Amino acid sequence: MKKIYFDHSATTPLDRRVVDAMLPFYGENFGNPSSVHAHGQDAKEAIDEGRRQVADLLHASPEEIFFTASGTEADNMALIGVARQYEPQDCHIITSIFEHPAILETCKYLEKLGYAISYLPITPEGIVEAEALRQALRPNTRLVSVMAANNVVGTLQPIVELAQITRAHGALFHTDAVQAAGKIPLHMDSLPVDLLSMSAHKLHGPKGIGALYIRLGVKLEPIIFGGGQERGIRSATENVPAIAGFGKAAEIAGAEMESESVRLANLRDRLIAGVVEQIPSAYLIGHPVRRLPGHVCLGVGGHESDAILLMLLLNEDGISISTGSACSSHHAGQPSYILLAMGMDEERARGSLRITLGRFTTDLEVDTFIQALPRAVGNLTTPELATVS
Ligand code: PLP
Repeated sequence: MKKIYFDHSATTPLDRRVVDAMLPFYGENFGNPSSVHAHGQDAKEAIDEGRRQVADLLHASPEEIFFTASGTEADNMALIGVARQYEPQDCHIITSIFEHPAILETCKYLEKLGYAISYLPITPEGIVEAEALRQALRPNTRLVSVMAANNVVGTLQPIVELAQITRAHGALFHTDAVQAAGKIPLHMDSLPVDLLSMSAHKLHGPKGIGALYIRLGVKLEPIIFGGGQERGIRSATENVPAIAGFGKAAEIAGAEMESESVRLANLRDRLIAGVVEQIPSAYLIGHPVRRLPGHVCLGVGGHESDAILLMLLLNEDGISISTGSACSSHHAGQPSYILLAMGMDEERARGSLRITLGRFTTDLEVDTFIQALPRAVGNLTTPELATVS
């Protein structure tokens, strides 16, 4: 059975061109970029190239890109790195209620240290509104962090407007763009954003490598101390193969974004229309238009509590989807805090199916899904078939 992968928000398959860019650094080019000899300098050149490629994707300057070990680490660096420059009583941070745990858990940690954090609400369509931010600002607000695109419902946030309000207030604006980077244009030469987190494995690059964009002139306290790599902001010997892969992945994403986002949005809309036609009780979760090109989040009316069963039945057909974010598989069966924040009741919040498409998704795969989901829903009503092995 041919397997179909519809969980690109969890992670993406490596592009073959990315693998090819990485391979030399697992072989003859093994040097430590801090070494002054030729082996070291070859590795340093690869890092410089990767930094330039990531910067180009963001229309930023290479000096504004700092490599990290993940999107999670970039988020931690941004929040803690700003907060640590202030006494807790002199630092208020604003974020939203439906951020990724990489932000929310960091905020919880900062709260324990005495920092004040406000959590902006979201609309039932999964959008953070500018007015909510205006109301939450305080004289000592130092940082606002709102994600560019949500990982569970796929909604795009009005970060231009949010960042403008933040800048006018004199605070810094951070966006977790782990889901958005490489999929929608993020041009730092026109966006009033000061800090931005990315992760390579969401854009057909390798796992274990991320980056934090830090606008020139913005100061951060480091959270990792050591040999002074990444200009003292993030010490540790650089992951050269992963940086080479991240750079290539960023270059490809930038070059193909325009055509790929149209292709994915067409596939996404066809998938939604096809499912709703076959299953009239199915409904789209999140904003109908302001969403990532390849992102679908669905509920099946009357079967919300069967979401995990549906996911397993599709899995039997070789189709991988998720019932929320990858992280939430650690909390299987519990309602999603994101759907609760959107005003859904507990029953509905348990029942979302996340179907996320990527570079190698084909028309045929979407057709297969449009036929497979109604079959799986039908099987739910046939007791002997509703148990999956
Ligand atoms: N932020 C968002 C919005 C995400 O979706 C994820 C991963 O799913 C992360 C942060 C964490 O990124 P990483 O897996 O690179 O740690």
